Amino acid sequence: MLLKHACVIGGGMAGLLHARVLADYAEQVTIIDRDQMPEQPEPRPGVPQGTHIHYLMVRGLQLLDEWFPGLRDEIERDSGAPRVQIGLQTRYMLYQTWQPSVDTGMHTYVLERPHLEDMVRRHLLTRENVKLLDRTEAVDLVFGGDNVSGVVTRKRPSGGEAVTLPADLVIDASGRGSKTMSWLEKAGYALPQTHTIDAKLGYATRWYAKPESANTDWRILYVLTSPPAQTRGGAILEHRGARWLSTVVGTNGDYPPTDEAGFLEFARSLPDPVIYESLKDAQPLTDIVSFRNTSNRWHAFEKLDRLPGRLYITGDAVCEVNPVYGQGMTKAALNASVLQQQLAAGLLDNRVFFRAIAKVNDNFWQAAAGGDLNYPGTTNNQPETPIERVMRAYLSAVLRGSVRDQRVTYAFNRVLNMVDPSTTLMMPGMLLRVLRAQGTR
Ligand SMILES: Cc1cc2nc3c(=O)[nH]c(=O)nc-3n(C[C@H](O)[C@H](O)[C@H](O)COP(=O)(O)OP(=O)(O)OC[C@H]3O[C@@H](n4cnc5c(N)ncnc54)[C@H](O)[C@@H]3O)c2cc1C
Repeated sequence: MLLKHACVIGGGMAGLLHARVLADYAEQVTIIDRDQMPEQPEPRPGVPQGTHIHYLMVRGLQLLDEWFPGLRDEIERDSGAPRVQIGLQTRYMLYQTWQPSVDTGMHTYVLERPHLEDMVRRHLLTRENVKLLDRTEAVDLVFGGDNVSGVVTRKRPSGGEAVTLPADLVIDASGRGSKTMSWLEKAGYALPQTHTIDAKLGYATRWYAKPESANTDWRILYVLTSPPAQTRGGAILEHRGARWLSTVVGTNGDYPPTDEAGFLEFARSLPDPVIYESLKDAQPLTDIVSFRNTSNRWHAFEKLDRLPGRLYITGDAVCEVNPVYGQGMTKAALNASVLQQQLAAGLLDNRVFFRAIAKVNDNFWQAAAGGDLNYPGTTNNQPETPIERVMRAYLSAVLRGSVRDQRVTYAFNRVLNMVDPSTTLMMPGMLLRVLRAQGTR
């Protein structure tokens, strides 16, 4: 085995998927998480986004399928999660126009985030060399020479004695609240620059019973925000048990209200009242919950000259993108896929890892952070390069084209789901179609 003991901080999606990859190359893998893992799929404090909509991109689903044989069957057969034919059972409105219906040849499943995490965790923990220590918080790293050689942990909520877990590889997958930067600083390392782009977008989300009378031809309905003018959007996703999870979002600090009347009124203000019409007589099942911490943040570890070896940082802990674009779990999976390729080649160099995931993360960043820059109120702490500006303008043109030309709709959906590379959208034929579509309605 390449490694004796690998320790993963954080048992969210990024942590679980990196642990899965490590399980093939380490004698023992230990995941630590400060939360108590629930017996049943339910939201937990360490993943507050668990109550909100989580779209699983097709590429993410494909990777789960490769890593966890039987998981797709479980989702399809036993989980009750609705299967969605993308393009046929999804309805997306952009720039006040519905995308045409197109058979994209792809499907995914609608799953609550806690449900998906629960299935992945159960499949992972069937592996004998993977252990999960819950209610265990990482409170520091152990530095030995030029390497990180372990994690200092403390039990929660009791605290008690600090316990050190020696490890020959440490992966930080502790998400947005990662403490690695402060641990590195304390140990005398220079910190990476952090690029932040913030559209000040807020969510308000509620569960409903799907009315028996609802005769819908969609399983995902999404009225997207369309910059610069239309700063509001909303969605309904059909879930197992004939339930709808509905969200409304507002950018530029136009946060949706969390009282019943305000929530519905916000839905009514969208360019098409379909979400309001669907919900107004539906039975609410929960309170309305909000989420506002949605900025895009990238810690540029790939640009640092000096880093301790054997420390990898991944998932949202290194790069988080505005969640409204539905990318984070697939981004985490693709980061784990990079690790897999490097371990398969016997490579244990974190700087090569950071450079490789930077390339992967850039695809997500261009779509999310780039998209957010189209709103006039968005803040950006770094200047945009001319190339980024051109790419952003072209991506907006693709979005407009995707509601006017079926071939663009097809290509856009496949790139959006990370099944086809983004270069598909740059091919001369596609470029022409996108440009032609700008003048038509
Ligand atoms: C509102 C919202 C909606 C979203 N919608 C989507 C979507 O539609 N599709 C999609 O793909 N993604 C979506 N995302 C993003 C997605 O949730 C994450 O990007 C993805 O799950 C990867 O997160 P992660 O594992 O890196 O971090 P997290 O999910 O934040 O997990 C971090 C884990 O680390 C643990 N932890 C933290 N600190 C410590 C510590 N010191 N010691 C031990 N454990 C610790 C936490 O308890 C937690 O379990 C959404 C996010 C938000 C906020």
